Amino acid sequence: AKDQGRKNFQFFTKSLLIASEERLHFENQLRTALEQEQFELYYQAQVDTEQNRIWGMEALIRWNHPDRGFIGPDRFIPIAEETDIIHPLGAWVIRKACQQLARWKQATDTPPQVSVNLSAKQLHSADLIDTVHEAMETYQIMDGELELEITETAAMSDPEVAINQLSRLSELGVSLAIDDFGTGYSSLAYLKKLPINTLKLDRTFVRDIENDRNDAEICMATIALAHNLGLKVIAEGVETQLQRDFLAEHSCDYLQGYLFSRPLPPNEAELLLSPDGVI
Ligand code: C2E
Ligand code: CA
Ligand code: CA
Ligand code: CA
Repeated sequence: AKDQGRKNFQFFTKSLLIASEERLHFENQLRTALEQEQFELYYQAQVDTEQNRIWGMEALIRWNHPDRGFIGPDRFIPIAEETDIIHPLGAWVIRKACQQLARWKQATDTPPQVSVNLSAKQLHSADLIDTVHEAMETYQIMDGELELEITETAAMSDPEVAINQLSRLSELGVSLAIDDFGTGYSSLAYLKKLPINTLKLDRTFVRDIENDRNDAEICMATIALAHNLGLKVIAEGVETQLQRDFLAEHSCDYLQGYLFSRPLPPNEAELLLSPDGVI
């Protein structure tokens, strides 16, 4: 039994070592990627339910890796978060999205609001306000043109810091959305204290809206709750016409999902913004 224990221990330390080596390698690659601009922002349309027009574009990061091709954010954002890379990376995303917004304001008559995802660590960073402020100045971004999406969980961790940071962002004229709403545990009392504009109904509730009675109830309750608090609601992950009809019937303000458009590179997303763009 002792031997067995030792073997397991060796195995354990060996695999941990590999894991940490791989991680370090990955971390270094992320730094290089940032220096060499291997990241790209894709944009996914957010549609006004009643008018059927594009109201916003959510920026979603991709890593165009020289050997491994496109890597999705779920695979590298968590590692960027655990290290400090999220700070320069997140600042790059904010600047890049503002630059794109400036370009769309110039190139189209109906520019969208642009949404950017913030990680929990970014929200709690002292530099965030300056980063956002500088980007807005540089690219002449006005009130309500930029939106930041914060997950419910990020907004809930260290509420005092979160409230303070969100208030300062709001004073800069940034709109604020709570992402993945319904998956965390925020209380109504807390929600009321946040200077937010929008709730994003999590995709997991939208997915089975047609078949799962509970999910349908959660969607309807969230919409009612948001409207009672004076907030807008956007549903994510809308893939079918039935989901769209249900959400429209229950007064969901905005819709986002593959039914309308996948996340697209900027030039393709721009085509959707032209008057004869299809949605
Ligand atoms: P999220 O903010 O909840 O973004 C929605 C995710 O759902 C995106 O995945 C999007 O491509 C995907 N999606 C959109 N419509 C549909 C649909 O109809 N069906 C399905 N099944 N999926 C849909 P993506 O681009 O892989 O991003 C994953 C997550 O990575 C995001 O979740 C967000 O939390 C994070 N992320 C993306 N970009 C950034 C960024 O610039 N900064 C930070 N901190 N996080 C980011
Ligand atoms: Ca989001
Ligand atoms: Ca989400
Ligand atoms: Ca998510």
